[in-house]
Amino acid sequence: MLVDSHAHLEMPEFKKDLEAVIQRAKESGVEYIFTVGTEKKDWRRALEITHSHPTVFAILGVHPHNVTEIDDQTYPILKGLCQDETVKAYGEIGLDFFRNLSPRDIQLKRFREQIGLARELGLPIVVHDREAHQETLEILKSEKADECGGIIHCFSAGYEMAKECMDMGFYISIPGSITFKNAEGFREIVKKVPLESLLVETDAPFLTPEPFRGKRNEPSYVRHTAQKVAEVKGISFERVAEVTTENALTVYGVNGR
Ligand SMILES: [Zn+2]
Ligand SMILES: [Zn+2]
Repeated sequence: MLVDSHAHLEMPEFKKDLEAVIQRAKESGVEYIFTVGTEKKDWRRALEITHSHPTVFAILGVHPHNVTEIDDQTYPILKGLCQDETVKAYGEIGLDFFRNLSPRDIQLKRFREQIGLARELGLPIVVHDREAHQETLEILKSEKADECGGIIHCFSAGYEMAKECMDMGFYISIPGSITFKNAEGFREIVKKVPLESLLVETDAPFLTPEPFRGKRNEPSYVRHTAQKVAEVKGISFERVAEVTTENALTVYGVNGR
C-alpha cells in the first residue's frame, strides 16, 4: 500500500481521464491520494473529486504563485471550505523565489498569514519552498508552525534544513526528482533522513519520475519514487511503502474511511 501525499487532480491536465487515472493508481497499490487545490477556481473542484472518490482527500490553500489574488473574501471562503471533512491539511503555502510569479514581499506576508489561519483551523500545513530555504525556515519558526506541524513538500533543500524541520515535527516529502540521473546530491540527503520522517509524492501533473520523465505525471507513478527511496536506503520497497503510508496517514489524521 502506498500514498501519493501530494497531487493536483483538479488541474486541467486530468480533465479528460480522471477516472482512469484514479483507477490506475488503485491498481498500482496507491490506496490514498491527497489532492491540492492551489487557487480559488480549484478549491470546489478538489472537493467535488473527494466527495465522489472515497480514497481521495483534499488540501486547500493559496499557492505562492497565486497570492496576489487574495482579497477580503479569500480567507472567509477558505475557512468555510476547510470545514469539509475531506480536507486534511492547509496548503500549499510558502515561498517560490525561483519563478517569482508573485512579488516577494507579498509572498512573505501571505505565507505568515496563512500559517496563522491553519493554526486557527487546527490543520497541518503543506509547505512549498523553492529557492527560499532560509526565509521559509525563519517564517516557520517565527509563526510557531511547530504548533500545527505538517509537510515540506517537494523537498529540495539540504540536510541541515531537513533536520531543523524534523525538529519542529515536520515530515519531508520526496518527489519524483529523486529518480533523475543528475540527482546524486539529493539522493545523499534522502539517505540521511530517517524513514520515520519521510513521505512520497508525485506533485502530478508535474515532476514525472523516471522512466516516464517528459510525460504527464500521475499518482500511480509514485511507486517509482518509493522504489528509488528503497534503493537509496538499501531497504525493501515494502518497508518504504509501509512506513511512508503510516507517516502520511498520521500527519493528515486519516484512519481509513
Ligand atoms: Zn509546490
Ligand atoms: Zn503542488
